[in-house]
Amino acid sequence: MGLRNETHTLNYCGFRSSTHVTLGLYGMRILLVEDDAMLGETLQTALEPQGYTVDWLKDGQQALHAISEQHFDLVILDLGLPRLDGMSVLKAVRAKGISTPILILTARDTLQDKVNGLDAGADDYLLKPFDLDELNARLRALTRRFHGRADTRINYGELILDPQSQQAFFKKQEIILHRREFMLLHQLLENIGKVITRQQLEQSLYGWGEDIESNALEVHIHHLRKKFYPELIKTVRGVGYIIQEFAP
Ligand code: CA
Repeated sequence: MGLRNETHTLNYCGFRSSTHVTLGLYGMRILLVEDDAMLGETLQTALEPQGYTVDWLKDGQQALHAISEQHFDLVILDLGLPRLDGMSVLKAVRAKGISTPILILTARDTLQDKVNGLDAGADDYLLKPFDLDELNARLRALTRRFHGRADTRINYGELILDPQSQQAFFKKQEIILHRREFMLLHQLLENIGKVITRQQLEQSLYGWGEDIESNALEVHIHHLRKKFYPELIKTVRGVGYIIQEFAP
């Protein structure tokens, strides 16, 4: 599976035709499961500047373990994988009741595979080779569908967050946010009324292998409260943070 030969490399990711960058959804943590080193690396390199935090695994067994143990907003799953194939990963994940959106990537372009994948609980399907712009559009659509919104803008009281343009507004004024502040606020707003644990927030902000300073999260939260208003984000002592259902 994967790249048939080197000349296909560019086609996979659409660099040849992309004259503009369509922004992804900041604050989204993606697990990429792909055993083809070249394709995996290309995807990771291409998705990260779009605002996704991308963790990459190369076999099905590790992927199943990671999805079972950690929070991801989205999984991109290849079907032909060592140790445990993608379809088995998908079935096992759904059998555990985990509803994380899963986009299947495969070169097996038969109708039957597509039907099997969707029956087994995949949310979408993309055939190799594909264009990066198309992948991005599918990822955005999946996230919107999962969160039940057709519009990507989030309104909360007088605060508006627009993940596509990466802009934030409060009382009709634009508020300039750093990348991680934006990611953090986005994740909290995507989960209004739910406590998000420190661990979940840190995992979304920083992928594996990145050093996290112990107070980094507090610093970002502090800045967000200062830029908007102090009551926006509540601390749940010893657990994490929450943005309450109704704007104060
Ligand atoms: Ca493969």
